Order: sequence, then C-alpha cells, then structure tokens
Amino acid sequence: MIIDCHGHYTTAPKALENWRNQQIAALKDPALKPRASDLKISDDELRESIKGNQLRLMKERGSDLTIFSPRASFMAHHIGDFETSSTWAAICNELCFRVSELFPDHFIGAAMLPQSPGVDPRSCIPELERCVREYGFVAINLNPDPSGGHWTSPPLSDCHWYPLYEKMVEHDIPAMVHVSTSCNACFHTTGAHYLNADTTAFMQCLTSDLFTDFPTLRFVIPHGGGAVPYHWGRFRGLAQEMKKPLLKDHLLNNIFFDTCVYHQPGIDLLTRVIPVDNILFASEMIGAVRGIDPETGFFYDDTRRYIDSTPMLDAQARHKVFEANARRVYPRLDRALIAKGL
Ligand SMILES: [Zn+2]
Repeated sequence: MIIDCHGHYTTAPKALENWRNQQIAALKDPALKPRASDLKISDDELRESIKGNQLRLMKERGSDLTIFSPRASFMAHHIGDFETSSTWAAICNELCFRVSELFPDHFIGAAMLPQSPGVDPRSCIPELERCVREYGFVAINLNPDPSGGHWTSPPLSDCHWYPLYEKMVEHDIPAMVHVSTSCNACFHTTGAHYLNADTTAFMQCLTSDLFTDFPTLRFVIPHGGGAVPYHWGRFRGLAQEMKKPLLKDHLLNNIFFDTCVYHQPGIDLLTRVIPVDNILFASEMIGAVRGIDPETGFFYDDTRRYIDSTPMLDAQARHKVFEANARRVYPRLDRALIAKGL
C-alpha cells in the first residue's frame, strides 16, 4: 500500500473559514465571539469536500491512505491567546476525525496543537491526549515557532518542550515539525518560512543532545527537510567541528524526511543523500503548489511519479518509502492497519 504521511484538510467547507474569521473579529469586539457549536457542517458536506478533491487525486495517483491534519497555514497560532487556539484546534481536529470516520480506509488523523506564543507547551497536552485516545490519531504537528515568523520560542532542544516530548514518547507518536502562516513580511509562508523552519529544526537538533534525553522521540521534517539534504556535507562538517557523533548515529534514529519536493532532481538528490530508512512518502496535496509543471505536463505535487522514476531506489527501497517506514515511524498507524488485517 502507499501511505502519504503529509496531507492537510485544505478543502474544508467555507463555513470553517467563516467561523474562524468571526473568532478573529471577536478579538476586537467580544460581542461577536462565536461558540464552537455555532459551526455546523454536515457529513454530506464533509464527504463532498473530500471526494472530489483529496480522495479523487489519491485514486488517480495510486496512494491509499493519508495521514491527515488540519490545514497548516490556518493553524495561525500567533492569533489571539491560548483560549483562541484551544477552541480553534479542537474544531479543526474534530473535522479531521470526522473525515477519518467517513473514509476510514483512506484517512487517519494527526493533531494540530493549541499552541500560543509565550504559553507553556504543557497546555497542549489535554488536546493531544484527546486526539490520541478518543480520535485514534497517530501523530501531531508541532509548530516550533507559534509566533508566526518571529521565533520567540526556545529551540526544540530546550526543556521548554520536554513535557510534550514525554507525552509523545508515552503514546508512541511522532511529531511533524510544521510551522504555520508567517506574519513576518520577510518570510513568505510556504516559500520561505516553511523551508526555513525545516532547516532550523534540524540544526536545533544537531547542536543539542535531545535524542540522548529522548532516544525514542521521532520528528518528521517535511518538505524534503528544507535545505538539509542539499547541504548534507555542511551539516556533517558542522557536527564534526562540534565533536558530535556521526549524523547517522546522532540524528537519523530519530529524524525522518518526507518527499514533498516538487521536481525529479530534488527527489533524486534526497534519495541519494539520505538513507532510505529515513524517507517517508508524502505529497502535501492539495497544498501550497497546485499547478501543473510545464516541463513535465504533470502536477508538481504528484510526488509518486518522482519516487517511481528515481534511479536511486529499487523495488525494496521503494516499498520502504511508500509503506514500511511509515509503519515504523507511526506505530499507532501500524497497529490500526494490523487490526484491519492490513
Ligand atoms: Zn504541510
């Protein structure tokens, strides 16, 4: 089977965005504040929003199951306070859960956390636990910069984050390190902020001994790892200067990269530089880059083509990228599949 470890609910019915806009408006005028129960989206509307979009493309492109989380750019943790994020995260996670109930063979959830700048990440634990225990979610998205491009939080290696890591280890769930909208004009959200964050997260881990403290903690760094694979020699050299172990021992038992790289040479490089055990198939469709590549005639985010075509992977390696690695990195997903006889 083919597991896509990176999909967001980017096609949610318009009512969701309207509710959020009202929540934001209420920050200035509390009389406008909507209740969570004011948002009404029927199962039919959810079905429609998925069937003609993500599910259609999954069938066309031949992927089977997507690890599905709320729309990343909409998380916007910088807006409002903890209560704002908490209500918003609960709503968005519940919608992803409902999608996973409507299409149980094709979607399984990953949680957005109710992060808020300056608020102790411990505050996210109740939502994390609810999503794992009640919704059967198999992962979380962790935003290393809830300020939205101003980087006011300590690095991921700081004990600031440890309470969350303890919960991740306890529940055996990985985190995709995923920022949200940039509110810093210097950083375009999907073209700069996302890739900066991927690179930054990797370097924060490299300079630390985080995985000595948490040997079973797992991070998925999306978007092909930002600049990491391309500059692998630089990172190896920096680790050497810092007297760190070889990167394969220092980081690669814990860090994995997805394949959201939207051209063949990028995937060829990723699969050449990064060990195959650390690469997870993903497309992030329908996401930031929705067009057709005039050089190939295919959608940029039709990433399966690049995996199928890269000379670096044989059939066994391809199976790892498409399925086996995801089952290892997301053990709760593996258990859910085994329970279905898959
Ligand atoms: Zn994403």
